[in-house]
Amino acid sequence: GGADIQPLQVDETISFDDIGGLSEYIDALKEMVFFPLLYPDFFASYNITPPRGVLLCGPPGTGKTLIARALACAASKAGQKVSFYMRKGADVLSKWVGEAERQLKLLFEEAQRNQPSIIFFDEIDGLAPVRSSKQEQIHNSIVSTLLALMDGLDSRGQVVLIGATNRVDAIDGALRRPGRFDREFNFPLPGLEARAEILDIHTRKWKQPPSKELKMELAASCVGYCGADLKALCTEAAIRAFREKYPQVYTSDDKFLIDVESVTVEKYHFLEAMT
Ligand code: ATP
Repeated sequence: GGADIQPLQVDETISFDDIGGLSEYIDALKEMVFFPLLYPDFFASYNITPPRGVLLCGPPGTGKTLIARALACAASKAGQKVSFYMRKGADVLSKWVGEAERQLKLLFEEAQRNQPSIIFFDEIDGLAPVRSSKQEQIHNSIVSTLLALMDGLDSRGQVVLIGATNRVDAIDGALRRPGRFDREFNFPLPGLEARAEILDIHTRKWKQPPSKELKMELAASCVGYCGADLKALCTEAAIRAFREKYPQVYTSDDKFLIDVESVTVEKYHFLEAMT
């Protein structure tokens, strides 16, 4: 029904400061997504066509969803309401025949009515996989519908699509032609500096955040960790510190006062959490 095409209420506020190591991507996405949505007249009067869709590619947990949500949050802060619609590729598919196409049409209508809008398709490879000759009639039809809907949007850029995927090769080539998802960003795994920044982001609200030296040292030993891994590491270290301070909570009596302030996360908690 209509109920599931309401824009996502972005409850938690994500700012660009909450994103580590991706500043070039943030700047580029602001220019390509955010500015055209907020200042369509500028783009029109300079005869610049903003992209219809951008594709965020890269391994899981590298901040693709985070950046998309930060863009929507930033718009609200700037006093402009940008509607943010989020869909997972496979969720669109899990409908009856024809139902996915209908939902897509409704989604686009709704996004246009409430423009400026961002439509975010997470795991878009699940929605629009490479079309094969024989099987997957259903996918064919969904991809065709999506293409037609994208082509039908007017060129002033008031509805922008952001697609995210771990496997760019698994996306139907027709979706990557000019006028569709024609800009691609390859999100890397974070490097040393970026890892330190991400560790900082996920510990900065702690009572006693780890020192700069410790963050650098940890970052150096976390080669191959993505942003989500680093966040999990911080959570795990904090839980270990808590468990050590209050072992009772994990055994028998939990009817006593816990003094959260007295829990400090030490280096060895991180190191143990890593193994
Ligand atoms: P997926 O492909 O699994 O959807 P994704 O790239 O969309 O991955 P996110 O959902 O953005 O990843 O990341 C998961 C969580 O990991 C985020 O909510 C955030 O807490 C943390 N995280 C990931 N990347 C970063 C980053 N660059 N800076 C800070 N936190 C990050």
